[in-house]
Amino acid sequence: MTKQKLLTIHGANSGHWQETVRGVFSPHFDYIPIEYSGYETVLGLLRVVADPLCLAIGVLLGLLSLVTRLLHFSSYVSVTLVALAIVSVPAALLRSWGVRARYVDQLKAKIDGHCPIDSPHVIAHSLGTYLISRALRKFPDFRLSRVILVSSILPSAFDWGKVFAPQPARAIDVRNEFGLSDELTRVVGKLRFAVRDLGTSGTRGFTQGAYVHNADAIGHCLKCSISWAPLHNVPLEEFGHSDQFLSEGHARRLWLPFLWGYRWDELSSFYDRCSSLARFLNSKAYADFDRECDQLWNSKFSWTSGRSLADHIQVQLSVRLTRDPPKRSSTSLEALSGDIRFILPDLVKQACEASTSNQPAEVWMHPLLAIGQALAFALLLREGLQSA
Ligand SMILES: [Zn+2]
Repeated sequence: MTKQKLLTIHGANSGHWQETVRGVFSPHFDYIPIEYSGYETVLGLLRVVADPLCLAIGVLLGLLSLVTRLLHFSSYVSVTLVALAIVSVPAALLRSWGVRARYVDQLKAKIDGHCPIDSPHVIAHSLGTYLISRALRKFPDFRLSRVILVSSILPSAFDWGKVFAPQPARAIDVRNEFGLSDELTRVVGKLRFAVRDLGTSGTRGFTQGAYVHNADAIGHCLKCSISWAPLHNVPLEEFGHSDQFLSEGHARRLWLPFLWGYRWDELSSFYDRCSSLARFLNSKAYADFDRECDQLWNSKFSWTSGRSLADHIQVQLSVRLTRDPPKRSSTSLEALSGDIRFILPDLVKQACEASTSNQPAEVWMHPLLAIGQALAFALLLREGLQSA
């Protein structure tokens, strides 16, 4: 099966996290880290706002004007140097803006190269949030799947209406994660008087409106029951600009469920309950297993399309047996359903344990893949047993 593409876009001086999360996403997506140059060092942080060379020339001109005054040069020379030094500041801002604008175009071209037809998922951090969001606003043919913005440096008042009003399907869902302790974004906000296209959406979120809601950390939004919005602010207390967001654990617990379109708490509960069932089986606590398994099988999940887990498994089995009838007529739907009760919890438990060591079983963390694999194992077991 072809995996959906997932692109990550780093910020200034912060590309290392793209390799940190590769192991989390590679089993599930065609993982493509997008890179660009010019912002690798600490100076890169300054370059986001103003061109360091222009600023350095301005400082030099200022010093020269001081020297010319001390050496009693003509006042015309000093004034000219001061004027040039002052002009170097807007020149630095303008040059930096020009580079950002050029990188927006280059990013669009790169993504078109990787994804000529399909709409990829995107995770962008810091300057990467600026580039992807501006590209989305600039190019009407640009469509994405699910988007995670982390520590955004766009203005809170960024006009998402220009993205979603003409075509609501420009992105399936956008999650704007930001830490309330992000001092770097706060500094960017203080420079907004000079850099109008940057701002504090990484500390305050985007301004709520028809296209923007506030959600809690797991993405739950009360307003969506009234009217859906394509973008949700997700404030995370105590988080700074980079570190905690960009870890394996954060990617696995919060980003994977979002990219799959599931709620983190729902998925986490499914993992816990399957792991408990596997432990009951291992310790031969069959009464506990039957009771808990019945409860799990009667539960409904977002990935079971409104059906109970038991009904979902029945439907999958029926489709499979119709398409590929078993060799033995005695391989009944009921017998296979019974086998899956024992196989599925153990597969999910294996996946959870494998996820911390990047083992192949990690792919079964996706509940539908785990169910599909449990079904395949059950069929193999029955057919193998009966032909033996
Ligand atoms: Zn909402």
